[in-house]
Amino acid sequence: MVYKLIIIEKSQIALIYFKDRLISLVMEHNLYRVNDIYLGRVSSVLTSLDAAFVTLNPLSKNGFISFNHLKDRLNPDSPTVPTSKNILVQITREPIGNKGPTLSCDISLIGRYIALFPFSKFIHSLRRLHTDRHKEYLRAMAHLLVNPKDMGMVIEFKTMDANVNFLIIEAQILKSRWTKITAKARKKLNPSLVSKRKIFLHKILQDHSNINFDFIAIDSYEGALKIKTVLTKIHGSNHHNSLKIEFHKNYFSIITHYLVDVLLLEIMKPKINLCRGGYIIIEKTEALTTVDVNSGSLTNLENSRQTSLWVNYSAVHEIVKQIRLRNIGGIIVIDFIDCNNHQDQMKLLRYMSKLMLKDYVRCRIIQMSELGLVELTRSRQGQSVYDAFSRKCNTCNGLGYLTFNLTKQRNINYELLLDPLFNYHKRLYDRIRNLYNKVQP
Ligand SMILES: [Zn+2]
Repeated sequence: MVYKLIIIEKSQIALIYFKDRLISLVMEHNLYRVNDIYLGRVSSVLTSLDAAFVTLNPLSKNGFISFNHLKDRLNPDSPTVPTSKNILVQITREPIGNKGPTLSCDISLIGRYIALFPFSKFIHSLRRLHTDRHKEYLRAMAHLLVNPKDMGMVIEFKTMDANVNFLIIEAQILKSRWTKITAKARKKLNPSLVSKRKIFLHKILQDHSNINFDFIAIDSYEGALKIKTVLTKIHGSNHHNSLKIEFHKNYFSIITHYLVDVLLLEIMKPKINLCRGGYIIIEKTEALTTVDVNSGSLTNLENSRQTSLWVNYSAVHEIVKQIRLRNIGGIIVIDFIDCNNHQDQMKLLRYMSKLMLKDYVRCRIIQMSELGLVELTRSRQGQSVYDAFSRKCNTCNGLGYLTFNLTKQRNINYELLLDPLFNYHKRLYDRIRNLYNKVQP
């Protein structure tokens, strides 16, 4: 068994193994998923942020939309939206931490080869196309597909491989999907889900269609029955004859059988030992993730340059793996062991970007700062292990340290000490406001 897939539908988790080693972990938010379309209601407008909160589900967190993603739907005379207005929105980013989902009014319907943008009129091509002839062909094709030109479309290079008839059918399917969505939204009065993205099982198999799984275990009977049909739909033939499907009667049995809970606990640990010495520490904050590389007690190498090279290279391997497993998105800052040699630094970064190419999510090294910190970004896709499986600790209130309650011990009221600072901020705020009012005509 080379590739193994474990799907826990009930919690929307999928684990992918290669030769019994976990290579990927896919997690989705249980309610809000990217590309879901909602009829939302503007609940509050934040003019200072040029954004608004939108109610999608009265029982859950509100979504956040910036005016930039609302522009077309705004009245040109007033730069804001009225509260309690109903708008059709699409989720562009899943909830992170205690923030709700991010929304956009620029709705897209994504097919296998093309993406339809009902509110746009532009034809975009994603990624650089090889030749101008390819580009022209695809543009002409896209113009034909969205004729009359009341919608926009995004085409990719892979569209070149698609059969024309297939593209025509796909465009028709997407257009009729859009008609259904608008009709459904018109009938509704209150915030609600209008169009749901593919079911989890379908999404996992579609997103990993390049992998030929030999074994799939799943916790739902319907899911187990559906797998082969979905695979045939994606691949068009039944080349998955050797595939073994295992059904687990319940959610607990699949978790205990594959030790998923133990594995998750292990994945969330901040400290990871590197092979043959040294370790890294991964810490996630709300704004970014930091990775600290340490040599630990590794001293058996000839000189410090060799030690730092050895530890940094094995750290790169582990970091790329851990970022992917933990599904960390956004800004990542890495503090490698001092390596003063410029050539060594460049080689290390080149090696890292080579390893990152294998990631199914886009990663990019931005720069090495003057302090020697390596900054990179990774697209956010789905939930990170922290978003999906962690909650604030009640004992330390998210601080991560055990504290002594000094106030109780020594009878000092610390609030008194902190108060003047608050007054100072208020004075500053008043001054800024006065100044600003004076400048205004
Ligand atoms: Zn704690």
